[in-house]
Amino acid sequence: MNWINRSRRTANSFLLYFCAAWKVAVALAMLMLFLTATQTWSKPVPGSLGVHWNEGAPDCTATPQDPLQVHTYEPQTFILRQSPCADFEANFLYLLVGSDKALLIDTGAVADPKEMPLAKTILRLLPDKDHKKLPLLVAHTHRHLDHRAGDPQFASLSSVQIVPIDFDGVRAFYGFTGWPNGIAHLDLGGRTVDVIATPGHERTHVAFYDRRTGILFEHRRTRLPIWISLPSQ
Ligand SMILES: [Zn+2]
Repeated sequence: MNWINRSRRTANSFLLYFCAAWKVAVALAMLMLFLTATQTWSKPVPGSLGVHWNEGAPDCTATPQDPLQVHTYEPQTFILRQSPCADFEANFLYLLVGSDKALLIDTGAVADPKEMPLAKTILRLLPDKDHKKLPLLVAHTHRHLDHRAGDPQFASLSSVQIVPIDFDGVRAFYGFTGWPNGIAHLDLGGRTVDVIATPGHERTHVAFYDRRTGILFEHRRTRLPIWISLPSQ
């Protein structure tokens, strides 16, 4: 009997030891996962700003130029700039590509697709998924016309959704309940973009923080239509 009890005690001790070791192993694995994930989140994907932007020309008719310049910041982030010859504001636009969806920030100041082939260019940049172009969300920093004149180029495309431009529509689309407090989120698939209400320049004004690159896309009253704040790398 004593032998049996001793044996059971030994078996129980072994089980307790095994369970404790297993729990420690799981805890360590979770910790490693957390540390790896934290490191991944805190490290922005680096990109390049090594580009010479089109300066325009004293006489644009004498020196024809491409209406739209495209720079690949990194494989999933594109910076587009409208030529100063196409419009004096020479708007910058941004295309952020996730695994399920892409986001275009602003459509610029030129409506005519013959003068500014924006939709055609964006569709060319979009990757395919399931034998179709990746769905696109067209958003705006704010509703002034020079940031959304190109919207109609996307209106007939079934895979494109355009964020409304009116105040209530903007709030409802992003899901702001206490505007301008709180932060909304856009999930592009493996890439989250935070939407921050910044109603200073205009009532519907928002800024976009891209967690992948660590870039804040915001409109400022400077010579550049949209300013980007880059992470320190
Ligand atoms: Zn404006």
